[in-house]
Amino acid sequence: MNVTELKQRLLNLVDVFEEKENLLTELDRAIGDGDHGVNMVRGFKALPDNIDDSSMQSLLKSTGMTLMSNIGGASGPLYGFSFVKMAQVAEDEIDQDNLKVLLNTFAEAIAQRGKVELNEKTMYDVVARANEAAKEGETLNYDVLQSYADLTKDIEATKGRASYFKADSKGHIDPGAQSSVYILNALIGDE
Ligand code: ADP
Ligand code: MG
Repeated sequence: MNVTELKQRLLNLVDVFEEKENLLTELDRAIGDGDHGVNMVRGFKALPDNIDDSSMQSLLKSTGMTLMSNIGGASGPLYGFSFVKMAQVAEDEIDQDNLKVLLNTFAEAIAQRGKVELNEKTMYDVVARANEAAKEGETLNYDVLQSYADLTKDIEATKGRASYFKADSKGHIDPGAQSSVYILNALIGDE
């Protein structure tokens, strides 16, 4: 995937998040404060005016900076920081090998920023599993990513706002896990 293709996939996320805004709002209403849908739409809507597509590195960095200052909430700094970190390891063309490096960096960035581990019912569950699968040479696609988000449904949240719901957080997919399905699906390209 070259910079033009990734730019297009990132800009397509504006439509994806508008389409999924209600779903993310509902998920966050169940175990949070109901703003995740509006947060993600606001963040991605800021991309067209703010991204720099002069190189793959600039594209990822400017995306990170834009998301960091426009999504808000707990998820904004996490996604923003992750893109800035991915910019530092991106190559001009994202091939299978570079994708593995990017996913590893994405997972490490969230773990570091969120002080989070697997099975705490967050976006990290999806990103970490995608990273592990890529390392094992498994094929990633939308359905596989969604299956990782679905796994957050039956566990109790121990990080972020959802952790206040304790056992009541069970039975709902984590909103950040759901939004990370769309972001990762854009990054993995047409595998
Ligand atoms: P807020 O919780 O401030 O309202 P959002 O609703 O935009 O922010 O984002 C909530 C999502 O952020 C959660 O569903 C979860 O996936 C993610 N999240 C929150 N805290 C953490 C954390 N410490 N580590 C990883 N992800 C987190
Ligand atoms: Mg929220």
